[in-house]
Amino acid sequence: MSERLEACPVCGAEGACEYCPGMRPRMLRCPACGLLWLPGVTDAPVAEGTYEEGYYEWWLDLPEAVEAKRATFARLLGLLERHMSPGRLLDIGSAVGLLLEVARERGWEPVGVEVSRHAVRLARERLGEEVPLHVGRLEDAPLADGSFDAITMTDVLEHLPDPVASLRRCRQLLAPEGRLLITTPAVGCLSQRLMRGGWFQIKDEHTRLFTPRALREALQRAGMEIEASGTVRKTLSLGFVSSHFDAYPRPLLTPVLGGMTRVLGPMARVTVPMASGEMWAIARQQQ
Ligand SMILES: [Zn+2]
Repeated sequence: MSERLEACPVCGAEGACEYCPGMRPRMLRCPACGLLWLPGVTDAPVAEGTYEEGYYEWWLDLPEAVEAKRATFARLLGLLERHMSPGRLLDIGSAVGLLLEVARERGWEPVGVEVSRHAVRLARERLGEEVPLHVGRLEDAPLADGSFDAITMTDVLEHLPDPVASLRRCRQLLAPEGRLLITTPAVGCLSQRLMRGGWFQIKDEHTRLFTPRALREALQRAGMEIEASGTVRKTLSLGFVSSHFDAYPRPLLTPVLGGMTRVLGPMARVTVPMASGEMWAIARQQQ
């Protein structure tokens, strides 16, 4: 008898099939919403220590990386600012605090929550004492319902084992007219269709990978709806991309990009906005 595979953690549909059989890590695909997920993951973060030293700062010694990341966050905050003026903002998965830093400069009043104690220490060094930073999970952070005008979750949703529950918590934390900005890898984008099982967004800690439909479904189940969405463009350099693939090696890509970076020298440090295989969405409470 064939194994009964678990139901989709977003839409609950049965009848999952294995995505790219033989691929590591093993992932299942939902026949209804298209979600890809790691079976058997019920708790986050995946493994104790996953998000500690090294996870957040493989890029910190690249000369162009901090400014490149700041430019990406400024572009994302600009999207949010089309819908609202700056107010109280919660950044979930605030990492080393760069989004919080850019948000503060743009007139937001930022608060961070982050599972990694190590990342929070680095964020504290950048931001000083006046930005509240909570170490731990969103669900455990002492935050008041309805107290945020905006919540940002950039590259976070794909790490969470129960995305619908986390999105419900976001809805509770938002003021009635509040907005949630999400970025997450987009299953169905060009790089995913070309690279399939070798897609660079497939990693042990990416426990759920969304199609646009799965993201819409997850938000709907959390009582929210998408108001605007699009393709993320990250400010990157060839050297930055190459360092990523040194940290997360891929056959072919890692040596080819490394070779190109060496040949191009300083030119490999020039930053440009590039599609990164991710989508963004701005959501609000269902009207
Ligand atoms: Zn599904």
